[in-house]
Amino acid sequence: MTAVLSHAHAPSSDPAHQSDPPALDDPTAAALHLVTGQPAVDLPAARRAVRDLLTALGQDPLSQHLRDTPRRVASAFAELLTPVPYAFTTFPNDEAYDGLVLVRDIGFTSLCEHHLLPFSGVAHIGYLPDQRIVGLSKFARTVDTFARRLQVQERLTQQIAGWVHDQLGPRGVGVVLEAEHQCMSLRGARANGSRTVTSALLGALRDDPRTREEFLALTRHR
Ligand SMILES: [Zn+2]
Repeated sequence: MTAVLSHAHAPSSDPAHQSDPPALDDPTAAALHLVTGQPAVDLPAARRAVRDLLTALGQDPLSQHLRDTPRRVASAFAELLTPVPYAFTTFPNDEAYDGLVLVRDIGFTSLCEHHLLPFSGVAHIGYLPDQRIVGLSKFARTVDTFARRLQVQERLTQQIAGWVHDQLGPRGVGVVLEAEHQCMSLRGARANGSRTVTSALLGALRDDPRTREEFLALTRHR
């Protein structure tokens, strides 16, 4: 994970894209908890279902080699679908920093909702601060939280951008995801190594051409 700070080409603030900062009791820090509303996984039911799936696939779930497989599969899926709670803590932008903040190469794994197979890759998140800034590690936690549900890459990208926009009230947000989908690499077209790139741009990162170009160029930089 790389964090990039840049002062170049900060656009003049546009009142149409100003958001109110979150309401605060504590004047210095605000912690907003990401509540996903995900139902809990029923592990015994998942184990039974994996046993049934093995039988339906012509396998013997009672054989010595597969005896523990339903338990392992159920707990693996439970882990991939259960977000770890965290607080999205923001701080006042006392330095009035108005350049682009970019966190690059945040690794993630999610589950494709069409095949229940993983897709994994990296996320790049940038924002233009207004009244609040955020601890950079919170972007990795945000990506992880939205990745731990059945997803398509397009929706995952938009949910991350929307969450950062709503919680931080920045002048602009950009999210780029690059991922390899096992449902593409392992079957069908067997497009091994091909990566899907999605982006969601909000506020000044969508509307200001120079800022948008700077963000996209920095996400491509290696
Ligand atoms: Zn798929």
